[in-house]
Amino acid sequence: MAVTKIAASTSPTGGTRINMALSEFQLIDRVFAARASARADVPLGIGDDAALLRVPADVELAVAIDGLHAGIHFPEDTDPRAIGHKALAVNLSDLAAMGAEPAWATLFLSLPDPDEAFACEFANGFFTLAERFGVALVGGDTVRGPLCAVVQAHGFVPAGKALRRSGARPGDGIYVTGSLGDAGAGLGLVQKRLEIGGSDGDFLRGRLDYPEPRLKAGRALLEVASAAIDISDGVRADLGHILSQSGVGGRIEIGSLPRSEVLLRSLPEPAGIDLALSAGDDYELCFTVSPDREPRLQALAEGMECPITRIGRIEPESGLRLFGPAGGVYRTYEGSGYDHFKGH
Ligand code: ADP
Ligand code: MG
Repeated sequence: MAVTKIAASTSPTGGTRINMALSEFQLIDRVFAARASARADVPLGIGDDAALLRVPADVELAVAIDGLHAGIHFPEDTDPRAIGHKALAVNLSDLAAMGAEPAWATLFLSLPDPDEAFACEFANGFFTLAERFGVALVGGDTVRGPLCAVVQAHGFVPAGKALRRSGARPGDGIYVTGSLGDAGAGLGLVQKRLEIGGSDGDFLRGRLDYPEPRLKAGRALLEVASAAIDISDGVRADLGHILSQSGVGGRIEIGSLPRSEVLLRSLPEPAGIDLALSAGDDYELCFTVSPDREPRLQALAEGMECPITRIGRIEPESGLRLFGPAGGVYRTYEGSGYDHFKGH
């Protein structure tokens, strides 16, 4: 890319800024190249016109790309460390939903100012997560522009074994990892629609800013799941993708939707249920498992590092039916696709 590159080596506001302004190349070298970890399958990483990467013979390469724009995908006042974490986490979450093991990432970063302190904090969030999962940053692009971070993540999955959205069958159990709705409540706090203080508020904001990609769970699910997706737009909408792509319908018992202790005590029902169903940014996994594999799933659950909960079952009739705690119909969504769910 040749336009709007960061070129300033002095502060555009005339030297009164606390943070040092860097050239594009200094920024790449000091902040990103310096921390990129080595991997044996990266003969050439950051610094040339392209990275050179070795894909093992018996795997398929899973590739996902997702970008975060300030004010759209994260609140303007978000800690730069959280932006760095989340930019990578949402992509690792996509790899987790395929059952892939992450290997490499590339990063497009657009910054309003070549601000070293901001870039360092962003990099701290990014690399702390990258190092936890052995992901090497192998390239990218750095430009001046509205604050935005786009990450592409690459991972390996045994050939022919990836988890897809299309494999759910009637009778399969519908499961989710972790707890739902916390990030939605965190966004409610940011937008001042909710008021929850103290450590409960911090927890909810943390769930919005620092989603945990469920990579361990995704890998374990390769053995048992018939379909999987990560929940970025709320379980109702994202399960809808599994239902439509699998040509099935389903039922959810809303009383079984897993909610954190914090959400349960800080929001009156049905607000918590509605967040758990429909709010975005959870980045948990939703997956289906055939009844004959459900005992094996229970055995695998121990190694997943997060709870799993069965929330319903796949049914042959299209549409999603929600049942209340007493067993009665809570709500019904006709059709099986995401578009049909819009506006409800
Ligand atoms: P080119 O103009 O050939 O694309 P660049 O000057 O954009 O080269 O980038 C120089 C090197 O730095 C390349 O290897 C590129 O992949 C890497 N790079 C640029 N920005 C980033 C970034 N934000 N994170 C990681 N690598 C980056
Ligand atoms: Mg470039």
